[in-house]
Amino acid sequence: MIPEQDYHMSPEEFRRWGYKTIDWIANYLENVENLPVLSQVEPGEIRAKLPETAPQKGESFEEILKDLDRIIMPGITHWQSPNFFAFFPTGISAPSILGELISAGLGIQGMLWATSPACTELETHVLDWLVDMLALPEHFKSSSAGGGVIQDSASSASLVALLAAREQAKADINNLVTYISTQAHSSIEKGVKIAGLRRENLRLIEVDGNYAMSPDALQQCIEADIKAGLTPCYLAATVGTTSSNAIDPIPELGAIAQKYNIWFHVDGAMSGTAALCPEFRWIHQGLELADSYCFNPHKWMLTNFDCTSFYVRDRTKLNQALSIMPEYLKNQATESGKVIDYRDWQISLGRRFRSLKLWFVIRHYGIEGLQHYIRKHIALAQEFTEWVKSHPQFELVGNPPLNLVCFRHKGGDEINQAIVNSLNSSGKVYLTPTKLDQKVTLRMSIGQATTEKSNVEQAWKLICQVAESVEANT
Ligand code: PLP
Repeated sequence: MIPEQDYHMSPEEFRRWGYKTIDWIANYLENVENLPVLSQVEPGEIRAKLPETAPQKGESFEEILKDLDRIIMPGITHWQSPNFFAFFPTGISAPSILGELISAGLGIQGMLWATSPACTELETHVLDWLVDMLALPEHFKSSSAGGGVIQDSASSASLVALLAAREQAKADINNLVTYISTQAHSSIEKGVKIAGLRRENLRLIEVDGNYAMSPDALQQCIEADIKAGLTPCYLAATVGTTSSNAIDPIPELGAIAQKYNIWFHVDGAMSGTAALCPEFRWIHQGLELADSYCFNPHKWMLTNFDCTSFYVRDRTKLNQALSIMPEYLKNQATESGKVIDYRDWQISLGRRFRSLKLWFVIRHYGIEGLQHYIRKHIALAQEFTEWVKSHPQFELVGNPPLNLVCFRHKGGDEINQAIVNSLNSSGKVYLTPTKLDQKVTLRMSIGQATTEKSNVEQAWKLICQVAESVEANT
């Protein structure tokens, strides 16, 4: 009989290539600062280097790693560069990478408590830790009627909250109204589409001079909707909007939500992490009025994507909206009522062991270490703010509350767009613009794990140089 061929890597080979892969990652992170931040490839360039068809016979791992350098790396935008100032950060760290690796090595699927009790219990425990670490309301702890769960993204968290709100409203779906500000993240509008609510029943509430939702405008809008026979259902406020980092007035909005029995969700995607430091906890004032809340450790808490902490006041609301019990998922632990099955708190059935990386991060850095990075980034942003203020050709837009500085050249949209294009094509920094008051606005988002003062100084010098050359050419 011909012996069956073993196609697997042997444990020895796995060790050898595993060590090499870790070396590869360590070298990458050591040198990432020298790479062009925004990938400079043209559309289709990466695919053109890939073979037309998959290999019939397996290839050596050495060849695969070589092609990683040759084919893939030119098409990477280096989010981990200390010169990445675009969007919001996607912080990572060595302990988080190792947590991801072990999660991959265990290869578990944590849909039910029974399918890996540690996956559920560590998640519950670490999310309770975070309630204390950020001084979030006690009603988000698992010892209350509420609790926390890790979602893949803030988009999913807002959607899950909306599904619970839809269920709670017990009204004709065509009559349900949702409220966000004009500055809320697009993921909430997408959630409205997915949840089957009418887009024409999504109200974009106007904002004040600081781009924060106006409670008066909200109240008027709700009153008009009730008069028109509609049912207000879901209000989503933001702590740190994407365009300008605006903080919506949570106490006033929460009071309105309570008055009209509307589900009140608060999206703290990036900025929520600032509450690790007592001096920035003002951002969460009024959060005790929220039915649900989320923030992303995968943005500003040194934890690899994906990791969104999502909390609810009443976990039965999630179960009512999302739980279905087919025969093949029945098990004694679930029937005992003593365990959490997180599959009932999210869209998909399957789930990764994400709490492992979060646990590693929190244990490695401690609260003190994490606070250090938040304080550093905010101090750098405040310094940058002063440089903008003292430059004759630039103006500050809004009042940067934390680590995002919005500013623009006084010369108008064309000049600002030209400045961003030139900065990004230099490969030395990456910034993404937005529009505030219909004007192109530059965003300096400071939150990468390894960003130092020297990176921010270099970026500002470059911005000033590029502005001068754009001015000279217009
Ligand atoms: N909410 C806000 C305020 C954001 O800034 C973002 C992304 O930057 C999101 C939601 C969406 O985050 P995610 O990618 O986790 O869905």
